[in-house]
Amino acid sequence: MKVIYPGSFDPPTYGHLDIIQRLSSMFDEVIVALLVNGSKEPLFTLEERIEMIRSDVEGHDLKNVTIKTFDGLMVNFAKEEDTTIIARGLRGMADYEYEKNIARVNGSLYEGLETVFLLSSPKYSFISSSVVKEVASFGGDISSFVSDDVEIKMKEKYKY
Ligand code: ADP
Repeated sequence: MKVIYPGSFDPPTYGHLDIIQRLSSMFDEVIVALLVNGSKEPLFTLEERIEMIRSDVEGHDLKNVTIKTFDGLMVNFAKEEDTTIIARGLRGMADYEYEKNIARVNGSLYEGLETVFLLSSPKYSFISSSVVKEVASFGGDISSFVSDDVEIKMKEKYKY
């Protein structure tokens, strides 16, 4: 079974990596899918984000994980990939409220599409890409939120 884990990953955090590792042990194949033209202006380019996820994935020897990009509707990407399973992470009620609508819209656009939700591990449940960017923008220590490689790239971006 093949699962797609879509997101912005701007930047990838330990919360994302935890979900990727867990999916990797549950499914035969995991596609981490980066949305090309999201509504938010990203801090990192697509290439930079791909590189950071690649380094995190390789560092954990996750052989059934591939990184891809997609443009436009996620359901069309799922059809191209010939799968009906999407995974998303849930940190709390706010994620749930937002995600359940997207899952229902996707389900109505593509019959048979299932969105599976993984609860975030407690130790990562407060980590988000936005929090990481906020802390880093003030020169704070983000070493417990992201991998060393991502931390270096954040330091370069914010010049601290
Ligand atoms: P998006 O812009 O699509 O929300 P993100 O990169 O912010 O993309 O998140 C991708 C997915 O990872 C989402 O399902 C989000 O809820 C989940 N996620 C983000 N941070 C965490 C975390 N700390 N623990 C578990 N899941 C997370």
